[in-house]
Amino acid sequence: MSLDASNHHSSGCLSLRRLFKLGSERTSKSSSKQANSSHKYGQTLKPSDSERNVDITDLSSRVFYDTCCNFACSKTNVATYQWEAPPVYSNLSCHDYNRDKVRHTVESVVDELDSSLRSLSLKIHSHPELMFEETYAHNLLSDFMENHGFFVTRHYLGLETAFRAEYTYGKGGRTLGINSEMDALPVIGHACGHNLIAISGVGMALAIKSALETHKVPGKVVLLGTPGEEGGGGKIILLDRGAYKGMNACLMCHPSPGPELSSSVPSSLAMQSLDAEFFGQSAHAGDAPWEGTNALDAAFLAYSGVAVLRQQIKPDHRVHGVIQGSEKRAANVIPDYAKMRWYVRAPTRDQLAQLVERVCACFEGAALATSCRLNVTKSTPYYDLRQNSVLAGAFSQAISEESGMAVGLYPSGASTDFGNVSYVLPSLHPAFAIPTQPNGGNHSPAFADSARTTEAHAACMIITKALACTGFRVLEDGNFSRQVREAFDASL
Ligand SMILES: [Zn+2]
Ligand SMILES: [Zn+2]
Repeated sequence: MSLDASNHHSSGCLSLRRLFKLGSERTSKSSSKQANSSHKYGQTLKPSDSERNVDITDLSSRVFYDTCCNFACSKTNVATYQWEAPPVYSNLSCHDYNRDKVRHTVESVVDELDSSLRSLSLKIHSHPELMFEETYAHNLLSDFMENHGFFVTRHYLGLETAFRAEYTYGKGGRTLGINSEMDALPVIGHACGHNLIAISGVGMALAIKSALETHKVPGKVVLLGTPGEEGGGGKIILLDRGAYKGMNACLMCHPSPGPELSSSVPSSLAMQSLDAEFFGQSAHAGDAPWEGTNALDAAFLAYSGVAVLRQQIKPDHRVHGVIQGSEKRAANVIPDYAKMRWYVRAPTRDQLAQLVERVCACFEGAALATSCRLNVTKSTPYYDLRQNSVLAGAFSQAISEESGMAVGLYPSGASTDFGNVSYVLPSLHPAFAIPTQPNGGNHSPAFADSARTTEAHAACMIITKALACTGFRVLEDGNFSRQVREAFDASL
């Protein structure tokens, strides 16, 4: 089934269609190349005749499934979507020789750093820190970058746990940005694998520094330590304060479940969180309930209203929330206060705005029905992720050359503050598969265990090398960089 033929996720595939439209001339060549690869975890196998042009249903037997927020395909998506690869940038002839040499440089550096990066990853994993409290990771990574020749600005732009590590070679040239996330989740620690994102950023930055020096390419690489991704919008704050100014492109990656030895360049859902507070009037629940105004009733009505609304929203829209009441509430007192926190998600920021309006109407209806006062606080929205088609194609090619790893284009139900960055400059945010337990996807305790395995580290190193090669091309190849920019402009 083609992407456009899917009725159910038609609106969710806008970004994917954009990618295909931009690279339509190159897609078929790329797709056939991807389809002719077959992999077992940790090794690359030559495809047998029976594995050539493998149908996606064959892959389902090797898929690690997830249940919640992640950047991978779910079981349903595997069955629904074709194994399509991103378009590959084709004007390579004058740079093929250089690219081989650069790849060798990148591989050597990352291989040399392997044990140091593994150590950083485990240290961060063993010291999980919540958003904007990533002091340990901030200091650890800042020290490491400083010791490897980067100029480091700690507590960058007024954010206590953000840092900027910068290296410039020669004069002039272009600037590449890279992000390292560091934060963990309450109770379940590094259940989103940001320890791997952190070391991938470090590995990329150091590999590109070495490539700039070895191949005498003027340019700048900037690693941003970006705090507060899990709901804090750290990158949005940094973006507003000018952290991404001057960058020609920005790269990062994210671990997820998925088919063995695979990656994907999905879009993600735009997201906004809403706090709905209902204010009522306390009264004796038995003696004089008519004197009270029940805020908890308002919250439950709002919850029911949203549940009904879900029947009339598109399958790729999401609304999910919790009721945060007072722990000291007594059953014989009419509750005078109730708070709810909701996350609303949709494939684009425009669709998100419409859905937020409909959700807020449920809150207002509940307040009206119960005579409660309502206060809604809206967070800064995360935008959907706009993967740059030219960067995606180059990444697909690089990772295929590096490891034979397959790259797919799957929609994702997750959201990221990197989406806002991708609206401002050319961006790439591939997801890469790590081995996970059944139903042990992102934001589950099992995923925290998966994020510290040697297999997850090995997958992270593969993606790090491919992204470093992709990023270096932005610095080295003016024609490539121009095409990256043109694709970005065309996607707006
Ligand atoms: Zn997460
Ligand atoms: Zn995450």
